[in-house]
Amino acid sequence: MDLYCLLGHPVEHSKSPWTHQRFAGITGQRMFYDKRLVPLDGFAAAVAAFRAEGGRGCNVTVPFKAEAAALATHASPRVVLAQASNTLRFAADGVHADNTDGVGLMRDITHNAGVPLAGQRVLLIGAGGAGAGVLGPLLEAQPAAVVLANRTPARAHAVAARHAALAAAQGVDLQGCGLDDPAVVDGRFDVVLNASSSSLQGGGVPVPAQVLRPGAFACDLMYGPAAQPFLDWARAHGAVARDGLGMLVEQAAESFRIWRGVRPATDAVLAELRQQLAQPHLRRP
Ligand code: NAP
Repeated sequence: MDLYCLLGHPVEHSKSPWTHQRFAGITGQRMFYDKRLVPLDGFAAAVAAFRAEGGRGCNVTVPFKAEAAALATHASPRVVLAQASNTLRFAADGVHADNTDGVGLMRDITHNAGVPLAGQRVLLIGAGGAGAGVLGPLLEAQPAAVVLANRTPARAHAVAARHAALAAAQGVDLQGCGLDDPAVVDGRFDVVLNASSSSLQGGGVPVPAQVLRPGAFACDLMYGPAAQPFLDWARAHGAVARDGLGMLVEQAAESFRIWRGVRPATDAVLAELRQQLAQPHLRRP
């Protein structure tokens, strides 16, 4: 039985094990996917221990995506750009890192939700592992402008600077700044993506409602009960709200393809997960 797992802190809320186990069933792959709570100072040791047990690869979540990228011996171009990885594959020649967050989110927004990004004004909140991972594929969708806003402005500046050439090549006006910058609070956005961990931490929405133009699309990368305050906020201010469940399934399908060479169909899995979250008595471990 091939072993995979999710490494992070926290991991309790994660639906990744259920999702990958379901993909394994659909595609007929013999594998077991676990989740492990890693001490904040213990990421490298946790990876080494899992490899020693025979682990074939892992997903990486909060707050270890930058450490995962740094630990890799082979990094994909999107990991080099993001300096963050959510997918590690263990091979004889070392640790291969990729990042499927961005392609997963883009597929959920444009394919599952049917929201076009080309020509739109986008506010991307958060320049941590998820925000950095999402930015490259977002720029490739050719919105008119992207404002990358982070609680610590220097981090947004650094991530935006790394993506400046890609933004120019795609014809996108890209700017990195703090959450209270005029580019944010005086901006009006067609699409607002919360890639910060504000919802995970139970904090409020980190930007004022005026960033939403009427009918805007607002997506929190978080899912489950913790995303509800953001969804309520968006709907109360006239936006179309979406949580991160579709992104979870789509980024997982990309990781699964990297590990197993087959991309599972996602529609039915996403529908099943939505039903589980809506009807907690149907939840399985
Ligand atoms: P991370 O690397 O730890 O980064 C956290 C980010 O959130 C940083 O930009 C941080 O700003 C910011 N932040 C933290 N608390 C905040 C607050 N109260 N107000 C405003 N900003 C705050 O985490 P990550 O890996 O980027 O993950 C971020 C979120 O995305 C998590 O909720 C995660 O669950 C979610 N996510 C979901 C999926 C999915 O498949 N649905 C995939 C990836 C991530 P500073 O730089 O100032 O610290």
